[in-house]
Amino acid sequence: MTTVEELGSATRTVSGRRLAALVRERCQDANLAHEVEVVSRVLPFKVSHHVIDHLVDWQSAPDDPLYRLVFPHRDMLDPGHFGAVERALGDPPALRAVVAGIRGELNPHPGDQLTRNIPHHEGAELSGVQHKYAQTALVFPRHGQTCHAYCSYCFRWAQFVGDPQLRMADDGPQHVIRYLRAHPEVTDVLFTGGDPLVMHSARLKPYVDALLEPGLEHVTTVRIGTKALSFHPARLVTDPDAAEMLRLLESVVRAGRSLAVMVHVSHPRELRPDVTRRAVAALHGIGAQLWSQAPVVRHVNDDPRAWADAWRAQLVLGIHPYYVFVERDTGARRYFGLPLRRVHEIYRDAVATVSGLGRTARGPVMSTAEGKVVVDGVAELPGGPAFVLRFLQARVPDLVGRPFHARFDPTAQWWSELVPFSPYDRAFFPVRDEPGDEGERPAAQAGPR
Ligand SMILES: *Cc1c(COP(=O)(O)O)cnc(C)c1O
Ligand code: SF4
Repeated sequence: MTTVEELGSATRTVSGRRLAALVRERCQDANLAHEVEVVSRVLPFKVSHHVIDHLVDWQSAPDDPLYRLVFPHRDMLDPGHFGAVERALGDPPALRAVVAGIRGELNPHPGDQLTRNIPHHEGAELSGVQHKYAQTALVFPRHGQTCHAYCSYCFRWAQFVGDPQLRMADDGPQHVIRYLRAHPEVTDVLFTGGDPLVMHSARLKPYVDALLEPGLEHVTTVRIGTKALSFHPARLVTDPDAAEMLRLLESVVRAGRSLAVMVHVSHPRELRPDVTRRAVAALHGIGAQLWSQAPVVRHVNDDPRAWADAWRAQLVLGIHPYYVFVERDTGARRYFGLPLRRVHEIYRDAVATVSGLGRTARGPVMSTAEGKVVVDGVAELPGGPAFVLRFLQARVPDLVGRPFHARFDPTAQWWSELVPFSPYDRAFFPVRDEPGDEGERPAAQAGPR
């Protein structure tokens, strides 16, 4: 596996073969270690020492939610695939072929994220930038395309298994800046990855400095998408590069712009360690605003109490709940996925137990090729039960904020499984594949999480 370990972020991590050894040592369970070895041949795993020492409850592994967040589990593969990898373990060429075949079946590129939404500038493709919604452009800095650890449900898993063709990576700050100068409608630039905080501050600096140059005053908010507070909070506290990174981020605030750190919090336990609280305080100390988001995933946080506890903890820490996502249709979705009906129930039951200040998370949201679709609930209409849906963001801006309906389906997990409830609703759905029709297949779309 190729990983980009950056000097500034002295994260010690465990991945590949060493994961099975770690599980054998901590859990004293040879079968579990074997399963870890098999599954980690197919999907990418990387665990930081912070997660191993401060987040996972080893007494409850493998059922502990924080263990499930980052460690392989046999149910992530279907039993046939699991057996095929197991049988090929001693035979490297056979193993390579088996693994490649299985990865291909796991929908590695939901929504063609590598080919859609890539903007053009002066006739040339601008790689490493996605500009789908007018106000917010995403930037994927080349050296930020990995994370301090990997969420086992990550929808970017394909880029972590090391095929360079699968990586979103940019052409450098000057190209990004030239594009933004020509797009005054962009108010927000979101640095994403991977996790941009894996980069040494010296790598991130040219991007941040460039955004603060004259001519880009329309970019009023710089967002950083990160899970460092959960996976490697020392990044902003005791790492050799921590003070320099904070100074760099502070320069955004000093320039009169808003600095929004979009933190990914899957479970309330992630916010408990003292070092994480110090990292939050350090960010507030430089004038950053903190917003949180995460998907609802089975085995990790499919429980209203986990969400309500996480939101309450965030309110105390000064983090605004922002998005609750529906897990995408990629990777180990058979293991993590939940019916939309259930995801909505979890959201609603969680929201009902917190004060208004805790009810700011919008969701559950599917980030699809057509836009961000929120599931508002299930309505009983004269023609039967229906999902009530709404675009929060849409490729066609005119569709935003207009309620529409899909036929209720108790098992549907994703947008592509939904059908319009009535002829009125058809306008909100993409043209679906009919036999002999080369229509576009609706699927998940890349988004910052
Ligand atoms: C979610 C998302 C954004 C950001 O949307 P906001 O509503 O501004 O947070 C931008 N681009 C893409 C592709 C997204 O999925
Ligand atoms: S979900 Fe986000 S933080 Fe987690 S591994 Fe993927 S990119 Fe990194």
